[in-house]
Amino acid sequence: MTSTPAGLSEELFARARRVIPSGVNSPVRAFGSVGGTPPFLTSASGALLTDADGREYVDLVGSWGPMILGHANPAVVEAVREAAGRGLSFGAPQPGEVSLAEEIARRVGPIERLRLVNSGTEATMSALRVARAATGRDVVVKFAGCYHGHVDALLAEAGSGVATFALPGSAGVTASTAKDTVVLPYGDLDAVRELFAARGDEIAAVITEAAPCNMGVVTPPEGFHRELAGIVHGGGALVISDEVLTGFRASAAGYYGIDGEGWTPDLMTFGKVIGGGLPVGAFGGRADLMDLLSPAGPVYQAGTLSGNPLATAAGLATFAGLDDAAYAHLDRASAALQQLVAEALTTAGVPHVIQTAGTLFSVFFRSEPVRTYEDSKAQDTAAFTRFFHSLLDSGIYLPPSAFEAWFVSTAHTPEVIDRIAEALPAAARAAAS
Ligand code: PLP
Repeated sequence: MTSTPAGLSEELFARARRVIPSGVNSPVRAFGSVGGTPPFLTSASGALLTDADGREYVDLVGSWGPMILGHANPAVVEAVREAAGRGLSFGAPQPGEVSLAEEIARRVGPIERLRLVNSGTEATMSALRVARAATGRDVVVKFAGCYHGHVDALLAEAGSGVATFALPGSAGVTASTAKDTVVLPYGDLDAVRELFAARGDEIAAVITEAAPCNMGVVTPPEGFHRELAGIVHGGGALVISDEVLTGFRASAAGYYGIDGEGWTPDLMTFGKVIGGGLPVGAFGGRADLMDLLSPAGPVYQAGTLSGNPLATAAGLATFAGLDDAAYAHLDRASAALQQLVAEALTTAGVPHVIQTAGTLFSVFFRSEPVRTYEDSKAQDTAAFTRFFHSLLDSGIYLPPSAFEAWFVSTAHTPEVIDRIAEALPAAARAAAS
């Protein structure tokens, strides 16, 4: 059974469906896999959300990652307000974009040059273009269950909403585009070796999530990236590490800060946290590759709003709040929550496994570890749905899909975690029923 807020959210959803496909501007928001009416949100502060009917929720989505300092963080809001007073968009160079690029490069060693775009999707799309131009090759390799945005070439067997709705890819992607994408099982280095042996001279790049988080969180096997980079570089291709979700959340230097020993990605992509809640993405890496970009080089890439002053102000204010104490807080909140969830599900006898990538984690409703997309798809999504709706009824807002990470913020104080703790036993019993 799904119980969802009656009232204004339902009215808004009905209105929305008349004018917006499925009533939403991004698929998972429609609650398609869990059923019911999504609460229409009208405000958010710290770890709390308020919907159109005045119901309050503890948020574990964090706008899917950006809100790492909590909602309406005063310093971020003030930075945006101040920037807005100086103009909303210049379409010309401005100081904030230099500072934001410098901050990212300071934190992440492989970033020698970086360009700002408006979303994670734009970042991965642009990185692919650079890789293809640099190598003169067409084929891109991705791993099943990794999501890299809705780039045509990267939609095959993607996680996130593509997983939530059990789609193999997307209609509207041409056969010639799909032909240039090879999908391999996550973590399968033998499959990578075999592919390079057979088709190495066609492969421009292998793209991978720095730690997969869009089929739930899958911790990369020990040494995986080091070995992967060895094979890919040996074959004359490039490694693109997608840190759109993990960047500056898994650790102060993203997942690379945890797993960067002994390998160097050629290109990296970022988004979410770097815009503090405004639309920003970035791609960067080796200077010789990034200098292929127009106008100096032959690879065209551009954006009316790229490097927008409000977005860079929000990103810089967010980075200013991301000190050691902030990461220690995220670690504590994440660990406390994991422990509470594990206790509640164990007590109710619900098979589950919790997997982590730095401060990121997710809960799979199955007892064996999840290493691949196939493993993730084999979880008990019906149990998740019952768990989800029980929590929503108790005012806890989880990602509405069994295939997503859970997001905490520095605003998730012990008091907030206590509210979640109170709701968990009933949710675990619902999952068991
Ligand atoms: N790459 C990864 C790893 C992501 O998780 C996402 C979004 O969830 C994207 C790329 C696409 O980013 P955006 O939604 O900003 O286009």
